[in-house]
Amino acid sequence: MSHAALPEWLLPMWRDLHARRDRLPHALLLTGASGSGKRVFAEHLCQALLCRRPDAQGFACGECEDCRWAASGNHPDILRVVPAADQDEANDDSEATEAATKKEKARSSQILIDQVRTLQAALELGAGGHAGGRRIVILEPAEAMNVAAANALLKLLEEPGQGLLFLMIAHAPKRLLPTIRSRCQVLAFPRPSDADTVGWVREGGIPNAAALLGFCGGLPLLAERMHESGLDTIRRQLAEELARLPASDPLKLAAQWDARLKAKDAAERGFDLASLISWIQRWLSDGARGALGLPARFYADFQTELTRLSGGQHAAWIACFREFHTYRAVAHHPLNARLLLEELFLVLHRRTSPPRKPR
Ligand SMILES: [Zn+2]
Repeated sequence: MSHAALPEWLLPMWRDLHARRDRLPHALLLTGASGSGKRVFAEHLCQALLCRRPDAQGFACGECEDCRWAASGNHPDILRVVPAADQDEANDDSEATEAATKKEKARSSQILIDQVRTLQAALELGAGGHAGGRRIVILEPAEAMNVAAANALLKLLEEPGQGLLFLMIAHAPKRLLPTIRSRCQVLAFPRPSDADTVGWVREGGIPNAAALLGFCGGLPLLAERMHESGLDTIRRQLAEELARLPASDPLKLAAQWDARLKAKDAAERGFDLASLISWIQRWLSDGARGALGLPARFYADFQTELTRLSGGQHAAWIACFREFHTYRAVAHHPLNARLLLEELFLVLHRRTSPPRKPR
């Protein structure tokens, strides 16, 4: 269940923009960590600026014609520019995707100059918007523009049409051309406080809110996405199996995770070998902390298991954590994923099992 309302910690920024909604610059650059609320904020702002009857706080009414268009994703005055790989995910032809060469895949994760030219043509055609009012371009992620696309966009930013607003969302703004950055007003999204976020995530019906937030580095929207996509269930399954690892067969576990990674829904959820390795590393980092009597940061809901497993074995857990850096480096292009998984679980089994008591 998604939150329809804007999260509370974004309200100060909202009030500031609302107070100057008639004097907004023509380009806003929304920056901040993934999951800090940039997209939710952009969608709210977009709808509010096009709404015919916004309320006293400036939020969209949700009922007028413009609001209904915006909600259906078909508003003629909202133009979206995203990498091809992020378009029409639902209609994705998986065979065609598999057949695509690596080069094409790399290209499809960029925003290309043709997309900016198409945008330019659309802006020229419908200048002034369908009702002579605002038009909004949402560009995400802005750092996905290649140099040619960025230079083409620069021309649009230099001569913005009447009523035009660019909302550029950037997770890594430093990768943007400085000339682009300097033409935008930056809205920096802060990391919300723990008290703000735990309450908000819990309201969203997430039972283990505090633990999941810890796993997500305190980023509530990331936590919500993990919960909704079922990734949190995978996280807990991994932790339960790692907690039982000393008494399990590591090769059998490797086979099970190999199958889970190959399952169709794994890619849809954004779960891959690199995530699995990074999640295991977080487990090892928590175990090393547990051995020193420190609380878990990522698996707070498995504190008891971690403390029991790692008791006194700080050095072994840290060594294993470091060893996993090597696996991380090859995670995106393993020669043989199954073999890598087998090695990985064998190492884990050896390093994180409590030492046998001398007879
Ligand atoms: Zn409305």
